[in-house]
Amino acid sequence: MALQLVVMGPPGAGKGTQAARFARDHGLARIATGDMLREAVASGTPLGRAVGDTLARGALVGDEVMIDLVRERLARPDARRGFVLDGFPRTVPQARALDALLLGGSPLVVVEIQVPDDELVRRVRARRICADCGAGADAFADPSAVPAGCRHPDRCAAEGPPWVARSDDTEEVVRARLEVYRRETAPMVAFYQGRPTFRAIDGARPPEQVRQALVEAVADALGTTSARLAPSPEARP
Ligand code: AMP
Repeated sequence: MALQLVVMGPPGAGKGTQAARFARDHGLARIATGDMLREAVASGTPLGRAVGDTLARGALVGDEVMIDLVRERLARPDARRGFVLDGFPRTVPQARALDALLLGGSPLVVVEIQVPDDELVRRVRARRICADCGAGADAFADPSAVPAGCRHPDRCAAEGPPWVARSDDTEEVVRARLEVYRRETAPMVAFYQGRPTFRAIDGARPPEQVRQALVEAVADALGTTSARLAPSPEARP
């Protein structure tokens, strides 16, 4: 049964770190829309040129653009074996569109990572990404770890990546993104909340505890145990 998981939460909740770890541990495709957009901006594609300004302001890219992007990504073979979505959906129309894109036979599990606002601002101001490929590092994760999605993992493992702050991680833009989250994304929580496969977890804890809580929440939502939520044979240790 292919696992279809959405990890959601405000900027700085740790959803990128946790979604990447869960995807790796369970051999699932990781689909991080923010990373996909930043990569498009960095490589100057037509999509990147169209969305660069929106990302810099911390506003949301239009639903149609996002839905097309995710539809194409979910159609790739790796995603047909199950996926973890990070950063999508962010609005109710995106959530409705996602329902229509799901694989039959298994439910969509949605886990919200909850963290108080002050802690979010503190974390986001401390986090860094790789200047070369935009892969993200959690300021609270192991600083020597090579971030998920890094395009040159061997070099990063040997020398460490050239870390910089994300251009949308200034205090002003972070507060704007939190406001956008409250206005546009929080209604989506209400959209999912009534479903039997929705869970909320406390993200104001060390990453390892949040990782464990995420695994348990997914297992619980699927009516199984975390031990039976077996990692894929291809998953790295
Ligand atoms: P993230 O890395 O998830 O924090 O996303 C960074 C930025 O990309 C956001 O502030 C938005 O400008 C844009 N973005 C990412 N995913 C979406 C989405 N599903 N809908 C609209 N905008 C998005």
